[in-house]
Amino acid sequence: MITYELGNALYLNITNRCTNNCKFCIRQYSPGVGDYNLILDKEPTTKEIIEAIGDPTGYKEVVFCGYGEPLLRLQVVVDVAKYIKKTYPATPVRINTNGQANLIYKEDVTPYFKGIIDAVSVSLNAENAEKYNEICRPEYGEDAFYSVLEFIRKCKSHVPYVIATVVDIPEIDIDKCRKLAEELGVEFKIRRFEKKIG
Ligand code: SF4
Repeated sequence: MITYELGNALYLNITNRCTNNCKFCIRQYSPGVGDYNLILDKEPTTKEIIEAIGDPTGYKEVVFCGYGEPLLRLQVVVDVAKYIKKTYPATPVRINTNGQANLIYKEDVTPYFKGIIDAVSVSLNAENAEKYNEICRPEYGEDAFYSVLEFIRKCKSHVPYVIATVVDIPEIDIDKCRKLAEELGVEFKIRRFEKKIG
């Protein structure tokens, strides 16, 4: 399933790959969200995603989320977001990401978001690199956490609304994470642990 609805938003599932392997990731426990099966036989093309979106007017936003890390398909995200903004300019577009794109591409990709992405929600997930490694088990080791912090800072220059999120699992110190988000100058959101993705 490429698109699915949650809370009057349209979610786009464009990859099942991820550079993390979070302990709480729903992919560990379920083939999807609710009745939606989100295991992809193959990653959809830009054309297939646009066709699956149809007319998004009426949704409060369109969200690149996936059952994996959407920015592993950066060019597809940019192309689809450009299409949405050109065709349905009133529809807000958000990316839910693990925040490792600059590490993956070895460049600052956040300027690509300017004018086409309204919000970026970054999974901060921990108050320090050690804890992040323990919980998210990133392919990139400790570099991942520092890259996430830098990605959040960079996003602020190009995206109107940037949010750092954590999942309320006992291992993390929520107050320290909130303080870190404050220092980064972004919104902070706690997501309830229910075998989450993103
Ligand atoms: S929760 Fe998100 S970042 Fe973590 S493994 Fe799952 S898809 Fe990747």
